[in-house]
Order: sequence, then C-alpha cells, then structure tokens
Amino acid sequence: MTPKVDIEAMRRTNERFEPFCEMISVVPDEDHEFTFSAKDNLCAKGFQARAGSRILEGYRPPFDATPIWKMRAAGGLLLGKTNMDEFGFGTFSTNSGYGIPKNPFDPTRACGGSSGGAACAAALLPGHVALGVSTGGSISCPSSFCGVIGMTPTYGRVSRYGLIDYGNSLDKVGLISRSISDIERFLPVISGSDPKDPTSCCQPRLDLSKVRKGPMAVPKECLEGLTPDVARTFDDAVQTLKEGGTEVDVVSMPSLKYAMPAYYVLATTEASTNLARYCGMRFGVAEREYAQHFNDFFSKTRSESFGDEAKRRILLGTFCRMVGFRDKYYLKALSVRQGITKEYLDVFKDHSMVLSPTMPFIAPKFDEIASMRPLEMYSADFLTIPPNLTGLPHISLPCGYHSGMPIGMQAVAPHWEEGTLIDLGKRWGTTFAYKVPEACQ
Ligand code: GLN
Repeated sequence: MTPKVDIEAMRRTNERFEPFCEMISVVPDEDHEFTFSAKDNLCAKGFQARAGSRILEGYRPPFDATPIWKMRAAGGLLLGKTNMDEFGFGTFSTNSGYGIPKNPFDPTRACGGSSGGAACAAALLPGHVALGVSTGGSISCPSSFCGVIGMTPTYGRVSRYGLIDYGNSLDKVGLISRSISDIERFLPVISGSDPKDPTSCCQPRLDLSKVRKGPMAVPKECLEGLTPDVARTFDDAVQTLKEGGTEVDVVSMPSLKYAMPAYYVLATTEASTNLARYCGMRFGVAEREYAQHFNDFFSKTRSESFGDEAKRRILLGTFCRMVGFRDKYYLKALSVRQGITKEYLDVFKDHSMVLSPTMPFIAPKFDEIASMRPLEMYSADFLTIPPNLTGLPHISLPCGYHSGMPIGMQAVAPHWEEGTLIDLGKRWGTTFAYKVPEACQ
C-alpha cells in the first residue's frame, strides 16, 4: 500500500516545529510502502548531509549510507533530513546550525538531542519512522522528551557506512517511532553485517523471538538526582510492571556514577580527531583565499564555521589525548568503561534487563536551557550514557505524563538481545496508553 504523503501538511508542521532541515518538495511517481526520515548526519543521495554543522554547508554526498540504502530497498520513501545538534554534540538540539526543533507537546520546550528532529518527526507525522543516531543517548533522550519509542541497537548491529562520525567506538544507528510494531518491522531491515563497516561483521543473527525472562533490575544509583515528577512517574510504572507479574529488584551499580565523566573524555577525544578533517581543504566550506599560510587558512575556516560547542569539544578532546595527559584521562576512562561493562554483565546473571528513567527531568523550556552551564547539560545524560558507553542495546518507552509533558523509562538488555526490549515494548503497550500531541489530533 502506498501511504499518502501530504507535502503541504508537512510544510506547515515544519514551519511550526522544525523537525526537518531539508525536505522533499514533490512526491516522486514511483510506488513506496512506507515513509521515513533520516538524521542529518546520515548521507543520502539527493540531499545535503551537514550533520547540523555550518562547516558542511553544501555537501551533497553522491551515495546512500547503508541504513538508508536498506530502507529504500525495502520500499521506503525518504521524506527528508532531520535537525540535530552539530555533529551530535548536545542534549537539546539547540546546538544546530539549521533550525531548532520544537517539542510536539509544547513548542516552548526542547525536543531533546541530539536526534531532536527525528523524535519530533516521529511524534508529529502519521505512520512515520525516523532513523536516529546515538553516541551517548541521542536516541533515548529525544524519544523520552517527545513521547515516542526510541530503539538503540547493540553497537555493531547496524552498519555505520555513510554516517558522519562523532565517536567511532560509540556511534550507533537506531530507530524512533510512535509504534513498537514499526521498531519490530524495521530493525531487521537496517541490521546485518556490511563489509563497508567492519564493526558490523561479527554480529550474531538478529533473532527477535529470543526473549529473556526473569526479574528486572533497577539500580538505586539511577534513582538519585531525579525531579519529583520523574521519580513518582517512574515509581508508578514499576508498580504497573509488578502488577502485571514482572519481578523488579533494586540493585546497586556503584560504577555508574563514573560513566558521565568517562564518556565525555572518550567521546570528545574521538570527536576531536574526527573533526580534524574539516579544514576547508578536503572537507568543509572554505574561503577561496589560498595565498596565505595554511595555519591561518585552517584557523579561519574552523573559527568561522564551527559552533561554540564543537569548539569546546575539540579543546577538551585534544587536551585529554595530549602526551602527559593521555594516561591520566583517556586510558583511565577506558578502564572505567570496562568496569561498567563488567558490572552490567554481573547484573544480567540474574536479571533480564536493567530499568531506569530515561531523563532526570521533563523537556526543559528554551529559556531554561539558555541559562544552563555546559557541565549541567552534560550531567543531564547520566542515565542514557551507561548503556551507550558499554555498547548495550536499549529502548526508551513513554511511561507517564507530567504537566502535559511525556516522561520515558529506559530498559537495557545484554549485547545482541534486542528481542527482549521489543518484547517489553509490546507488553508495555498493552497496559499503558500513549498520548499523541494535540498538534496531530
Ligand atoms: N548528549 C550527549 C553528547 O552531547 C550525547 C549525544 C549523542 O548521543 N550524540 O555527547
């Protein structure tokens, strides 16, 4: 069945909420089975790929990223590219060079980030599935803030060929949608080994019928630092799960508190090397004045076109890997990462999943974000970072509402066991009624 695409309605939605940084302007003649969007850091033929950055203005890749190619081959029509924080650097999608997406439930609030436009599109467009990317929580966070389902697969499950890298040891392509059946339908489409991305090549076959049984674990460390509304809503959700027959144990995972600092060392270290290529010679916009020293040329290009957060991360990451600091920061962060992985694997010995709220607060207003310091913003990710740092698959499901705003819970499963998360999503969907934003009623 060819779904009807109403370009005018999409345009109106985009004027009000800005999920897209680029959209199709006419519906092509050929048949398609479904529509989808892609985060702006995934390369797609026919569109610019700017990863939310001014430095990539005008870059038109002549090829499709593997997940996009697979979605198209399955009959998908790519509607457009979605707004995001520059290169994925952010938690609210406010660090974008091409428009800031507004929350579907309240346009004075943020969508979350960095896949904010993707979650916004998934919440507002009928029957829409969005390709998102997560490095440290960029699928879970906006899904929670926008009241939709976000699936981040195991690191290596989905090929990253054609993805504009943030942190190569962390980046994962995943799905955002209003419906769990879409996640179940499209995860097998985008998954699978791809010789163009070696990290995808040693995965076991995706078997969604493989479902783990057993109690769920809630780390007590994840219950600290929450706003009272999130704490209460999460508590009620746990109660509902228990009433439905799921056992839930509170456990302790003391190393989780080191996840946030370790992540920001590793992610910025990797980002700072990845961004080195945008010097205006090989990649990146550049002025055409070549008769100057190359240092001046590079500095001018990079100073003018990178946003403040990208510059902050280049400085932080370069510092962390400098001779003399490497052992103190980078290597230490790597060992913290190993410790956290081990702690998860220990918990999985007698638990099926680890459960927590997704974000410690509801989607903040834009004026609240404007007065946040960088460390406050980084700290907001303390619940989404641990599964990302350890490459574990996770899902964010809407679990309640406060002041009309959605609140999400996040379940984490062992490596390669996405089926357990989808099973939870299906069971949860039969007991909990998701709300749709007024804007699409
Ligand atoms: N908020 C985190 C960061 O800024 C995660 C973003 C992401 O996953 N791309 O790094």
